[in-house]
Amino acid sequence: MRVAQGWERSTILVHMADLIENCLHSEGLMISAGSEYRCPVCEESMDLDGVGRWVQDAERSRDEAYSMVEGDGFGEIVREELQREVYRRRRVMYELENVPRVVTARPEMILVIHDAVEASYGCRIFYKEPRPAGVVEQVSVGAVLDRILELRSDPDPVVRLISEKIEEFHVFRSKLSEDGEPAPERRVFYANEF
Ligand SMILES: [Zn+2]
Repeated sequence: MRVAQGWERSTILVHMADLIENCLHSEGLMISAGSEYRCPVCEESMDLDGVGRWVQDAERSRDEAYSMVEGDGFGEIVREELQREVYRRRRVMYELENVPRVVTARPEMILVIHDAVEASYGCRIFYKEPRPAGVVEQVSVGAVLDRILELRSDPDPVVRLISEKIEEFHVFRSKLSEDGEPAPERRVFYANEF
């Protein structure tokens, strides 16, 4: 019984790993924040160079299939399938290249407020008017360095910028607190500071 359970478990894990590693991004790639493209199925995210490599992978598979010895009807089907995959991936890439990208918005001002009750930082981000669509306007994060640093890997460059400013403010406040000094509860960062 124990053996059976272990076998099932490892099989499922292997299957899951296969699904993740071999995802064909069959539903295409979506534009996500920054200059990244994301597969809605496996969540893999890549830049345009990564998309180019993904196309090249398909071209290589197709070329390898063509270089194989003259095949039977089955080989023909496989080659056609691989060629179709090359076309599909190229189409995905061309579409992504042709979508006019929203110029990444630069905030004009960032207000960071420490919430002592919630032990967190709340951020409000201000942009020059007219405010670009779809930009992040608020971020809140626990007042712990680890949590703040996690934001550094956010796909949105504005959130990454904000993580730097929160970190700066957090370190500044922590130092004052260590020295027994009262720490300010809010800080405004202007565009010339980031
Ligand atoms: Zn995928």
